[in-house]
Formats: sequence, C-alpha cells, structure tokens
Amino acid sequence: MTAERRSGPPRNDSDAPKGFLRPADGPPGSPDSVGGAGGRGILLGCIADDFTGATDLANNLVRAGMRVVQTIGVPADPLSAEVDAVVVALKSRTIAVPEAVAQSLQALAWLRQQGAQQIYFKYCSTFDSTAEGNIGPVTEALMDAVGTDFTIATPAFPDNQRTVFKGYLFVGDVLLNESGMQNHPLTPMTDPNLVRLMQSQTRRPVGLLGHAVVARGEAVIRQRMGELKAQGVGIAVVDAVSNDDLMRLGPALKDMPLVTAGSGVAIGLPANFGILPSPAAAGLPEHAGFQAVVSGSCSLATNRQVQTFMAQGRPARAIDPLRIAAGVDVAAEVLAWAQPLLASGPLLVYSTDDSQGIQAVQGELGVEQAGTLVEQVLAAVALGLVRLGVGQLVVAGGETSGACVQALGIAQLQIGPQIDPGVPWCHARCGAAPAGLHLALKSGNFGTDDFFIKAFKALAQSTVANATPA
Ligand code: ADP
Repeated sequence: MTAERRSGPPRNDSDAPKGFLRPADGPPGSPDSVGGAGGRGILLGCIADDFTGATDLANNLVRAGMRVVQTIGVPADPLSAEVDAVVVALKSRTIAVPEAVAQSLQALAWLRQQGAQQIYFKYCSTFDSTAEGNIGPVTEALMDAVGTDFTIATPAFPDNQRTVFKGYLFVGDVLLNESGMQNHPLTPMTDPNLVRLMQSQTRRPVGLLGHAVVARGEAVIRQRMGELKAQGVGIAVVDAVSNDDLMRLGPALKDMPLVTAGSGVAIGLPANFGILPSPAAAGLPEHAGFQAVVSGSCSLATNRQVQTFMAQGRPARAIDPLRIAAGVDVAAEVLAWAQPLLASGPLLVYSTDDSQGIQAVQGELGVEQAGTLVEQVLAAVALGLVRLGVGQLVVAGGETSGACVQALGIAQLQIGPQIDPGVPWCHARCGAAPAGLHLALKSGNFGTDDFFIKAFKALAQSTVANATPA
C-alpha cells in the first residue's frame, strides 16, 4: 500500500513561504492539472541534468521526508500521483546549450503547471560542465523565466566527499582538477574555483558566500545574501563542508524561487515546508513477482557485486557481445534459460566484464557499437523478464538503466527506501507490468559488494515496516 500518511504536519496555504513561485496556469478547464491527484500542487519542482543524478536527488528528498516521483523527461500529461516533489530527469548535461536551455524551460513550465512553489536545478556534485555550460546558461534561463535576480550555486555533497571551501571544490582530499575529473572525456574539469568557473558560463556577476558566513546560520546567511544582491551579484557560490552547513543553509533558502545545486542542498529544504524525515515518505506499494538482476555496468564496484552474487551460488548467465554481433538471438536464449529458474529466487544476467575483456570486445566492434548492442540486448532481457513475471528488478549501470527503463516504457518512478547511498528502490507502472514493478537503478560505482542480494532483502524489510500500523 502506498503510504497515505503525511510525512510532516498538515500544511495549509499559509505554510507557503513568501516569495515562492505562484503556479502557472494549467491547461484551460482542468483544475486537476495543478498538482497531484488531490489538486494541491507539488512543493518542490526539480530539474536534473541526467538520469542517475535525478535519482540521487530524489533519494535525498525522500530521506528528508518528501514523497517524490521522478519522471523520465518532461511528461506529456499532468502528474497523477499526490507527492511533495517531482524530479524531471533530463539528459542535458553535455548537449548543445540552446537545446539544454529549451529542455530545461520545458521542464520548468510543466513543473509550474503542477503547482511547484520552488524550483531546484540539480547538477553533478563535480559540477560537470563543458566550456560553454550547461550549468551557467541553464541557470540564467531559469532565473529569467521565474523572474528572479538572485540564486545560489553549490555542488557540495559532504556525504559523498564533495565539499566547497572559499569557492574551491574538493573531491575527497584533493581539488576537483586533481581528482581525475580533469581527464573526463566529455566534461574535463580543470578549474576547481567555482566562482571563476560559473562566471565563465554566465553574464550575471558571480560572488561567494563563504564558510565563515554559512557557519553562523540563517540570519547571517540572509544578511550576506542581501549584501551580495546589493552589490549586483546574481549568483552566489556557497561554501559547505558538512551536512550541518547544508542544514544551516536550508532555512535561508526558504523564499528563494530558484535554487541551483548538487543533490546535497536538498537535505535542508523539506523542513521549510513543515516536512520532517519519516519512513512513510519512502512507502511503496507491496512488492510481488520474481526477482532478477540485469547488469551492464563494467565498473569496479559492479564487477565485485557480480562476483559476490555468483559466489553465493545464485544462478547467473553472462552475455557475450560478440555473439550478439554475430546475429545470435541472445535475449531469447537468456530468457529460455531464466524461465524455469525464476521461481527459486533471484538470478543475474550480466555483460559485466573487466577492462581487458571490454577492450577485446571494443577492439572488435568499436566502442559505440559494443555499447549499443549490449544495451539493446539487456533492455530486451529486462522487458522479457518482466513479461515472465519478474516484479523486483535491479539494473546495474547508468546507460543500461536508461535503456531498460525506455524498453519497459516507464515514464514515472515513485521513489522509495534507500538501499545504499544514491540508490533507492522505486516503483513504476508500465505495459509489461500494469499492476506495477519495483526497480532499483544502480549507477556503476554505487553499492556495497553484496548489493544484489541486499537489495531484495531491503525491499522485503521495507514492506514489513510499511505494513506496521503507525
Ligand atoms: P556505468 O554506470 O558503470 O558507467 P553504464 O551502463 O552507464 O554503466 O555503461 C556501461 C556501458 O558499457 C554500456 O554502454 C554497456 O552497454 C557497455 N558494456 C557492457 N558490457 C560490455 C562488454 N562486455 N563489452 C563492451 N561493452 C559493454
């Protein structure tokens, strides 16, 4: 059963902080188009520049007490669930600036139609951007659209060792440009100074709200924001080195129409709406159906997770990309193998390999073709497994998750309990599972070694917890 209970005290209109966005008009003659099923309107409307980043943000909001839905792209229809926040997942991080701006504005328009009172533009905690943006241009376009002349920017996410001090971004103990991110193929990050970086992407003056201010709490933060505004600063980079800093920052953002940040700042916002952390926020419908894992990630963590699953004697079947390229119907083979095993517990289908294996395949097929072929087959396997009655599906890999969600025709995910940092269980309805399907979409390097077994145990436990009367 979906949790009906509010996670915080009841809200009324007077709870809405001054200065928040007024809902944009919904389509004519459709009052229900504002907000969820109850027509109340969502509180926080979020725009994320990539898919797993969106889940990461949604996960933080749920942990802070909000009921959250993540949509895949901008929905064509009004929201059908009653939730506190929606995260629209775009794939706009590295696309051309005008396209990223257009998609973000489209997401904004939809979120305002759902009644969003505050907008949150979410980017990566390593501030992944190209020389042109897209963080700066999208921020400015959103500022123009919501009609504000001041916002903040901070990728700080201390839980994940991303901290900002004196405007410099640290990843663990090193500066951003020494963290390996300087070699990223798409978004090489060579300048750790966020004020300089943001200024290079924006017309509006960029300033710094330093740690000495943040450490002193809401009143001093607000005073400094006022001073920066008076100086003509449009975007303030904010220092934060701990969750305490983010919790001090939260109340000062209460009347800010647009917040831009990584996922960290989200932990301090739900309280502004009278929402407190509560397990009820993570309530999902009861799970049912068989259990399966589909893994296309080749990251080190996923390789360990595959080994750990197999070491426990669970059934596992590898996919050989070269056989796919040779025209064999690998998906059909795998599904025929899986069908008689499904009733006896979780099984794994994987293309996961070490760097040597991947290089051999890529040498033969080319990087792109290898990736696409494997993604297509894993997505077909995921769809086939769901048709065979799998109701609890773990997918490993960001791109792989995108392909599986697309093949399943999923448009919205309800976010549930966290399994490991950054990876929650989700629930979705789709043609292959009209009654609903539980999904865990794991970005490559997330999760402990026993993740594939732990995930199913966590889901069983969370349902038991949900069923306990409050
Ligand atoms: P991660 O989150 O770990 O980056 P992704 O799913 O985003 O995982 O990316 C993994 C990519 O590698 C996908 O495009 C997938 O199709 C591809 N891939 C998976 N297995 C193999 C393999 N054995 N050989 C070559 N490419 C592979």
